[in-house]
Amino acid sequence: MLAYIGLGSNLEQPQQQVRTAIEDIRAVTKTTLVAQSSLYRSPPMGPQDQPDYINAVVGVETDLTPHELLDALQQIEQKHGRIRKRHWGERTLDLDILLYADKVIEDERLTVPHPGIAERAFVVYPLAEIAPDLQIPGLDSLAAIKAHCPPEGLVPLENNQS
Ligand code: ATP
Ligand code: MG
Ligand code: MG
Repeated sequence: MLAYIGLGSNLEQPQQQVRTAIEDIRAVTKTTLVAQSSLYRSPPMGPQDQPDYINAVVGVETDLTPHELLDALQQIEQKHGRIRKRHWGERTLDLDILLYADKVIEDERLTVPHPGIAERAFVVYPLAEIAPDLQIPGLDSLAAIKAHCPPEGLVPLENNQS
């Protein structure tokens, strides 16, 4: 199954956090990294008294179920020392499942497609970079979503060597 994962970090060398998290995702069992966006800088969502974020999106081909993939991603968040303080607050690493094939999932642990996709420039633009022709289940084409999503301070990082 083809799945897309959104990455974000704004603590303890965020660029490094995101780059090493991509390597950690590459190492997940039954999973192959198939696409990787540039890195972007974005202003914080929610509380404004926190550093800017570094964001990226990757695509994986996986034989894990959605919940197994979430388990693996949460283990990586833990490994990166994630501490849950306040809602949408600063964090060393956030890994969200944006899409899992064309599945629609709504349970206590998992909402897929991720409900924030359409409003978040830091998801829409990197995702469009690696999957411009995507259709979001229950929503619109990614191209149409992007056309209605202002960049809101999102900037691609210079010296993107990934
Ligand atoms: P947001 O989901 O709005 O981006 P967040 O990423 O800061 O907020 P977290 O604290 O990382 O939220 O996650 C809270 C819970 O969200 C997790 O424990 C997980 O069970 C749940 N969750 C629901 N849907 C998803 C998803 N698609 N990807 C990752 N976690 C999800
Ligand atoms: Mg998130
Ligand atoms: Mg999250």
